[in-house]
Amino acid sequence: MLTDIEIAQAAEIEPIVKIAEKLGLTEDEIEQYGKYKAKLDLSNRKDAPLDGKLILVTSINPTPAGEGKSTVTVGLGDGLAAIGKKPVIALREPSLGPVMGMKGGATGGGYSQVIPMDDINLHFTGDFHALTSAHNTLAALIDNHLHQGNTLNLDPRRILWKRVLDINDRALRNIVIGMGGPTSGVVREDGFDITVASELMAILTLSTDLTDLKARINRIVIGYTYDKAPVTVADLGVAGALTVLLKDAIKPNLVQTLAHTPVIIHGGPFANIAQGTNSIQATRAAIQLGDYAITEGGFGADLGGEKFLDIKTPLLGKTPDTIVIVATIRALKLHGGKPLKELNTEDLAALEAGLANLGKHIQSMQRFNVPVVVAINQFTADTDAEIKLVQEYTQQFGVDAVLANVWGQGGQGALELAQAVVDSCEKASEFTPLYAADDELTTKIEKIVTEIYGGRDIELAPKAKTQLKQFTAQGWDKLPVVMAKTQYSLSDNAKSLGAPKDFTIHIREFVPKLGAGFIVAMTGNILTMPGLPKVPAANNIDIDENGKITGLF
Ligand code: ADP
Repeated sequence: MLTDIEIAQAAEIEPIVKIAEKLGLTEDEIEQYGKYKAKLDLSNRKDAPLDGKLILVTSINPTPAGEGKSTVTVGLGDGLAAIGKKPVIALREPSLGPVMGMKGGATGGGYSQVIPMDDINLHFTGDFHALTSAHNTLAALIDNHLHQGNTLNLDPRRILWKRVLDINDRALRNIVIGMGGPTSGVVREDGFDITVASELMAILTLSTDLTDLKARINRIVIGYTYDKAPVTVADLGVAGALTVLLKDAIKPNLVQTLAHTPVIIHGGPFANIAQGTNSIQATRAAIQLGDYAITEGGFGADLGGEKFLDIKTPLLGKTPDTIVIVATIRALKLHGGKPLKELNTEDLAALEAGLANLGKHIQSMQRFNVPVVVAINQFTADTDAEIKLVQEYTQQFGVDAVLANVWGQGGQGALELAQAVVDSCEKASEFTPLYAADDELTTKIEKIVTEIYGGRDIELAPKAKTQLKQFTAQGWDKLPVVMAKTQYSLSDNAKSLGAPKDFTIHIREFVPKLGAGFIVAMTGNILTMPGLPKVPAANNIDIDENGKITGLF
C-alpha cells in the first residue's frame, strides 16, 4: 500500500496558472510562488456576491482512531467536480507542530489529498513564519518598552503577550527572560505558545483587508498597568510595523487536489483556543469563485463547528447551506468503550453504544437549523453490518449517513456523498443562531454548554468571577466567547467519551482577545504549547541526495 507522500509524489500536478484560469482569475489576481502555488489578490472582488453554496465539514469528537475530516473535505470536493459541479475547497494551513510531532499533516490522505503536500506541510508560502516574526516583534517591543523606562507603566507581572514558535517545545512553556544585568532588559517570567495559538493568527484569519487587520492589531491587549488598566498595541504605537510584516501573509494561497480541484488554503488558528477555521477571505473567495465552497472547522462539531457558526458566520456574511458530520466506525466503537487495539474487529454492541456521540452532534448542528448529512469515512476493516447500523441509526434524526471511500478512491469514492450534499443544499432552512450578539458572556457560555455539549451548567473559579467584574467595567462582557475545551469529549474531561450528560463545565479563567474580538473561556488544562511524543514523526522523515522526501506521512 502506498503512503500519502508516495501517492502525492506520483501524481500529475497542473501548473497553478491553469487552476487559476479555471477559476476565471486574471493575471493580476495571482502571484506565483514557484510553479504550483500562488497567492491571491482578490481586492477587486471584495464586493462580489456570495452566490455559491457553502458546505461546512465537521465531525464527531476526535479519537486516536482518526476521523479524516480533511480527507473527506478533499474527497467531497473532488466528488462534486466528478458530478459536474464547480467546487472550491477552503482549508487551513498545517502547523509544523503536528507534522514533526504526531503523525499527521493537514492535506488529507490516500487518494484525497492536496498537492504539493510536502511544500504545504512544511514552509508553504511562509505565512506562519511571517506570523511568528510579527508576533515576536511585538514581544520584543514590549520588553524594550520596559527596558527604556516603561512610560506606559506596564506591570511586568501582568503581561499577556507571550512569544511563539511553530513547533512543539514543552521546555519553553515557562521561561525567565531579561537575565544578565541592567543592559539585558527587565527580568520577568514569560513563555512560548505555538504559532497557531497566537492571537495574531486568529486576527489574520478574521480580517477582511489590510485596514481591518491593522485596526484589529491596534486593539490587542498586551497586558495591564500597575493600576490594572489594559494596555493595547495602539498605546505602544507599533501596529503599522506589525501589519507590514503580514502584508503577504494576509493573501490566501491557491493550490490543487490530486484531481486538480482548486483549493484555497489560508491561516490555521487552533480550534480550542481560537475559532479554528481558515480565513474569512479564503472562505469568501471559495464561495465567490465556485458554485460549491467546501470548508471545515477544526476538531469536532462542539468546538470547530460551534465556533464556525457562532463566530465566523456573522463576519462571513453567509451561513452554511449544509453541514457534513464526518464519523468513522472505528472512532464510534472507541466512543462505545472498545479498546484502541481492537478496533479492526466487528463489534456491533460497542458501535451502538458509541453512536450516541454522533447523535449528539447531529442534534446540536440541527439546532442551528442547517440541513445535516453524515459522511461515513470508510476504513478497510468496516463491515457491512456496522455500516448498516450507522445508516439506520441516523434515520431517527431525519439524516442520511452516506458511505464515502475517499481515502481509497478519491472523488470517485464520494459520488453518492456529493449528490447527497447537492440535494441537501436545496432543502429550505432558516439559519438560527445559538445566541444573540448582546447576550451576556455567561449566558453565551451557558447556551453552548447546555445546547451544544449536553451539559447541565457552568461553574466559575474565583479568578474567572473577578475577571467577569473587570470585563463588565471595561465593556467587554458581551463579546463572543471562544470555549477552550478538550477536543476529545463533549465535557471538559478528556476521558469522558460517548455522550455524557448533566455535567458541569468548569471555567478556570478568561483571556481577553480584543484584536480577534472575543473572550476565551479556559476550561480544564488546555495547553497552548504542546509537547512532542516519545517517538516523534520527525524520526521517520528523511530526504535523499535528489531532494526526494520520505516519511512525511
Ligand atoms: P482530520 O482532518 O480529522 O484531522 P485527516 O483527514 O487529516 O483527519 O486524516 C488523518 C490521517 O488519517 C491521514 O493520515 C489520513 O491518511 C488517514 N485517513 C483518513 N481517512 C482514512 C481512511 N478512510 N482509511 C485510512 N486512513 C485514513
